[in-house]
Amino acid sequence: MGIVLVAVGEIDSRVMDWLKNDLANVFNKKVFIGKGMPEPDYAYDRKRKQYLSTAVLNSILEQKEYAPYEKTLGIVDHDLFVPELNFVFGQASSRAAVISLTRLRQTFYHLPEDQNLFRQRVLTEAVHELGHTFGLGHCGNPQCVMFFSNSLLDTDRKGSEFCPSCKNRLQRFSTQHP
Ligand SMILES: [Zn+2]
Ligand SMILES: [Zn+2]
Repeated sequence: MGIVLVAVGEIDSRVMDWLKNDLANVFNKKVFIGKGMPEPDYAYDRKRKQYLSTAVLNSILEQKEYAPYEKTLGIVDHDLFVPELNFVFGQASSRAAVISLTRLRQTFYHLPEDQNLFRQRVLTEAVHELGHTFGLGHCGNPQCVMFFSNSLLDTDRKGSEFCPSCKNRLQRFSTQHP
């Protein structure tokens, strides 16, 4: 039944609208905006001053109301981490994924705001994490959205498009699991 977008805590409604439009084009599926979830206080780590992405992802997976959808994408406006890394842009399981907006804004790096660049980055991260939920791993092609981004430099270079081979696999996986 398509992809459902979930604001985890307060999220700019423009971001939800951008994703609804842009993701429908990329995945050729229906995209819905679901009921939002509260701020993920349970995931906050006081020492790191960041949010544990696994905790947010698990909380999304526990919500029964998103179960009818094929995939769920949570959007968080807090910096996410997993214990082994300084930060993560997002995280995915087979049914749901979560992305953080925090490090996608130019202002995080003390640069002037750039709305178009921000929109492109949000889409790139959303497509990457949803790509994982559809069974795609990381791709060695630096121009492919499934390339692993260590930094925004990687994110900006790769963009939001799948390389031909990932596109092919995505189509195969999507038809296997309608
Ligand atoms: Zn990845
Ligand atoms: Zn690829």
